[in-house]
Amino acid sequence: MPSAEFRKVGHQLVDWVADYLTNIEKYPVLPNVKPGDVRRSLPSSPPRHPEPMDRILADVDRIVMKGMTHWNHPRFHAYFNSSSSSPGILAELLSAAFNGNAMVWQSGPAVSELEEVTLDWLRQMLGLPQEFWGIIFDTASTSTLHGIVAARESLTDLRTRELGMVGRSELPKLRAYTSELAHSSVEKAIITLGFGMDAVCKIPIDDQFRMRPDALAAAIAHDRASGFRPLCVVATVGTTSCTSIDPVPAVADICEREGIWLHVDAAYGGSAAIIPEMRYVLEGCNRADSLVVNPHKWMFVPVDLSVLYTRKPEILRRAFSLVPEYLRTSQDNVVKNLMDYGVPLGRRFRALKLWFVLRYFGWDGLANRLRDHIRMAKEFAGWVEKHPSFELLAPVLFGTICFRAHPAGMDDEPALNALNETLLQVLNSTGEVFLSHTKLGTHYTLRMAIGHLQTRESHVRATWELIQRELKALQA
Ligand code: PLP
Repeated sequence: MPSAEFRKVGHQLVDWVADYLTNIEKYPVLPNVKPGDVRRSLPSSPPRHPEPMDRILADVDRIVMKGMTHWNHPRFHAYFNSSSSSPGILAELLSAAFNGNAMVWQSGPAVSELEEVTLDWLRQMLGLPQEFWGIIFDTASTSTLHGIVAARESLTDLRTRELGMVGRSELPKLRAYTSELAHSSVEKAIITLGFGMDAVCKIPIDDQFRMRPDALAAAIAHDRASGFRPLCVVATVGTTSCTSIDPVPAVADICEREGIWLHVDAAYGGSAAIIPEMRYVLEGCNRADSLVVNPHKWMFVPVDLSVLYTRKPEILRRAFSLVPEYLRTSQDNVVKNLMDYGVPLGRRFRALKLWFVLRYFGWDGLANRLRDHIRMAKEFAGWVEKHPSFELLAPVLFGTICFRAHPAGMDDEPALNALNETLLQVLNSTGEVFLSHTKLGTHYTLRMAIGHLQTRESHVRATWELIQRELKALQA
């Protein structure tokens, strides 16, 4: 593409993005498409001849846009609603322009060193001790997989790196402990590593949805007596369903006593620790062996960017370092080559967007915005609690509210579940909001996550009014 064309289309596209972000509220949060609609609008075979950019961009408007769920919409409240930010978007443009690839330090000195420095800034913001070293992966699922591989590598006597595990009848069966509410990525990591889902022991939770340390200790003792070998414990700070916080200090006591690797999944909740008065959410995490936090979830960094911190990077390195001749460099003895610490060889310049975001907002700016989300969530929870036809189903610890409609006199659980499921469908079909759901105990639960850069109190209030209105309509 000639430079003049790049300049022209580039300006056009930046204008497009600026308009998109400014006018985001004019789009339905959830698109009105059925499965296959987008595919059917696209040619089934590749273009044989070059196409002009204006035709490609026109198809973004015509085809892509109609199938987009707008994560950047301030009333996108589903899942954990990550929102991107303008500095993050601009950094992505620059990152693609550099096409930097920090396989080894030499292939991207700035990429490698910016990652190291930025993650050390983030470590300080989270209040983690200096010995925590971080590395960026795409998602928390990948970070947790790497944390668990390090846990396996820490069992040195098993010699799994050299000998593998298949066909070795002398090996004990391994066990990973996590709560009933742990994210599915923990089990996926265990499946990926070939331990089988039987290797996951789900520890019961208490009435606040937290892992029960007494049950954890009992499960470990029972397993040891039955010949199992504990592999790791995965505690969660901010569970996906209801944002509960496992009692990490008590879990760390058990892990230390038993000599078990402790991995903490703080993918969502960890970000809150950048708010000085919320640092307690990571209490005890200084004793974790590894911990994941996702700036792409609740720190306005565009997807994807997850950080794995570990106090034991040398174990991660021992698990993954494998250096073929063509990747040897003369600096190998004095630098950290990031390929040595995980599965991927190629590593794109993700740190750039975190660096832009941290600098543009500043620590205080980010903390203020997160604080505001938590304030709005608590306010929403207060409205729910006061309303005779709704009830709160879990404590509001961060920016996420779990609740359901529960009209007076209606106590049949299947009927309540059906009512709430219908209410959610109706709400989401308006195009005005997007909420998601979970199940807490037997309750079909509505989840509303407030974490968007552009969400204001007026949005939250409008959503609450919509929910009340739609419930009334359903009851009528
Ligand atoms: N851990 C927790 C607590 C989560 O809530 C999620 C996703 O919502 C994940 C892990 C997985 O995140 P990712 O999509 O980055 O793999």
